[in-house]
Amino acid sequence: MLGLALAGVLAIICGKADGFASPIKMSHRWSGSTSPLEAVESSSTAGGQTEDLPQALIFDCDGVLADTERDGHRPAFNSAFKIKNLDCEWSVELYGKLLSVGGGKERMTAHWDEVGWPDCAKTADERSVLVKELHLLKTALFNQAVVDGEIPLRTGVIRLVDEAIYRKVPLAVCSTSNDKAVTNLVKTLMGKERLERMQIFAGDIVEKKKPNPDIYDLAKDTMGLDPARVVVIEDSHIGLTAAKAAGMNCLVTKSSYTGDEDFSAADQVTEELGEDGEASTSVTLATLGAILRERASAASS
Ligand SMILES: [Mg+2]
Repeated sequence: MLGLALAGVLAIICGKADGFASPIKMSHRWSGSTSPLEAVESSSTAGGQTEDLPQALIFDCDGVLADTERDGHRPAFNSAFKIKNLDCEWSVELYGKLLSVGGGKERMTAHWDEVGWPDCAKTADERSVLVKELHLLKTALFNQAVVDGEIPLRTGVIRLVDEAIYRKVPLAVCSTSNDKAVTNLVKTLMGKERLERMQIFAGDIVEKKKPNPDIYDLAKDTMGLDPARVVVIEDSHIGLTAAKAAGMNCLVTKSSYTGDEDFSAADQVTEELGEDGEASTSVTLATLGAILRERASAASS
């Protein structure tokens, strides 16, 4: 019943928005209880001001769209190690430390550089092959976990994505994770029609991963963006550093592994994007507009 009601609301929304031809089907993963229309109405009247919309809204994937690191990637790495008969298991605590290295292949390499490589990988070539094979296997296992619905979307993501679609704010995802993994997660958890409205920049598409700004620079160049008008949502110090190095604004939504990190460079820090229907305490486009206004005000003073 809820799904049908929401589809009806979206059909109305879609009739108003150019280029939004068909209603977005509600993913069965979505547990939201409030329509995007209500969020839009709340945001557009917040503070009695006409909001400044971001030129684009860019999400990090892991930790922002879903809390994937602890409950998705980590178990998938461990399963891959087991399948390859490697005596290696990353605990929740150890994986938290390993996350200081961006990228799965780089993470495995850094770990074994520190504790010693498995016997099957003595030469540089063997190590390179092992890491690539494990990464492929781990990615397949992770994708299966996503498809199986083992990793839910974080609170408020769907609400904010739908608000951006309705207000025609271009959307993107910039991630150090594998492109297929990111695409799969967005498609499975948000649906094909939302995926089609998001540009995805992921994996090895750039040489230098976060905290380097390359992935955000690529999004900027590809989408023709003024970085000062873009808002990025990240969950980690690494991601925040990358976004800021690209000259973009950054709101941090903390995730399970990142709560104690240094977010002093962030434009705003929040525990989560907020429950649907609680617009006064949720992150909306009005929240992001306020960040843009503050930046413009600081630049002119
Ligand atoms: Mg992240």
